[in-house]
Amino acid sequence: MAKSAGRGGVNGAHHGGVHDGRARHGGAHKKVRRSARGKAAAIPRVTLIPGDGVGPEVIGAALKVLAATGIKIDWDHQLAGATALKRFGTPVPDQLIDSLKATGIALKGPLETRVGEGYRSINVYLRKLFELYANVRPVRTQAGVHTPFPHVNLIVIRENTEDLYAGIEHQVAPGVVESVKIITARASKRIARFAFEYARKNHRHLVTAIHKANIMKLSDGLFLKCAQRVARDYPDIKYQEQIVDAACMRLVTNPHAFDVLLLENLYGDIVSDLCAGLVGGLGFVPGANYGKHGAIFETVHGTAPDIAGKGIANPVAAIKTGALLLDYLDHEREGDRIRTAVGAVLRAGRVLTPDIGGKAGTEEMAAAVIRALK
Ligand code: NAD
Repeated sequence: MAKSAGRGGVNGAHHGGVHDGRARHGGAHKKVRRSARGKAAAIPRVTLIPGDGVGPEVIGAALKVLAATGIKIDWDHQLAGATALKRFGTPVPDQLIDSLKATGIALKGPLETRVGEGYRSINVYLRKLFELYANVRPVRTQAGVHTPFPHVNLIVIRENTEDLYAGIEHQVAPGVVESVKIITARASKRIARFAFEYARKNHRHLVTAIHKANIMKLSDGLFLKCAQRVARDYPDIKYQEQIVDAACMRLVTNPHAFDVLLLENLYGDIVSDLCAGLVGGLGFVPGANYGKHGAIFETVHGTAPDIAGKGIANPVAAIKTGALLLDYLDHEREGDRIRTAVGAVLRAGRVLTPDIGGKAGTEEMAAAVIRALK
């Protein structure tokens, strides 16, 4: 994504601060504000991709909540994925890419990727195209949502651009296929530094690198060496390593033993959903993909085809993803207002979607959040 006027991209992710569940990107939009000194603040333009499946339902809910905060955003509506394929004959229309290049920032619903067939993941494509190398997913227990573990408070930081997601697969001979796992020192150091900077800015004390270097000695071995090298620059933050299988067991028996998780792409994908399970499910966890020159905000959950079109998807993850977007746009106060309102609705427990034992629909829950906005 090209730097657009006034949008310094996500350098703030390293330097300005990505706040706990609140992506504070100090430098990101300050130019807009400074250049607008004495005049009305510029209205940010943001690409809006409703997505497939439950995407339009939960993103629609998030948009209503964002609008209710009073913050003005100039949305550039674009299609992608299966919806775009139907309309334009391609899952990645040129106008989508042009929009992302111009705005440098997007709020995106989930996009469908068929299992074992069809076009490659558009999510992966966009993250790689714009070098959105850091995927950040704050995983927190919500008061009012009953889970086996109280007070879970983890940050999953996933490398977004390589690993088995390089998509290099080929058939060596009939019945034999090969998938190539790419790990580079450059990307490994970059994501490790992001994780440590994140930890430092957010007063977190521990970074755990999760790996399988006992088996993948070269690739995961390199990832670990890079993490160890970067860790030396952060003596104030504890660093530890865990093999991914043991880490999964420990996460579901004692999640409090972790703080910031640093993972390659595939482990990060899997462990994110596991962590979502710790706090009540996929309906709760927001997410963001940050690069030097842009950011795409999206939930951890997918298109949820089993409930799509029924109007019952939990909108909390999308609404909290919208709050992360507001933080990025330097509207942290409004981001906090949204998080507080979501917390109040969940604590009250009266208007809840079926995934958390309620009977309300997506829109009703969003309306309850809007009523709770203070
Ligand atoms: P999924 O996240 O869509 O659904 C897994 C389960 O969680 C389902 O039972 C679903 O009903 C439930 N769920 C998900 N979101 C929910 C919500 N907001 N409220 C209540 N329940 C919710 O995962 P999947 O079924 O493995 O994937 C479906 C599709 O989504 C696939 O095509 C996959 O590639 C895609 N996907 C896209 C993204 C993305 O765009 N970033 C992420 C993950 C999966």
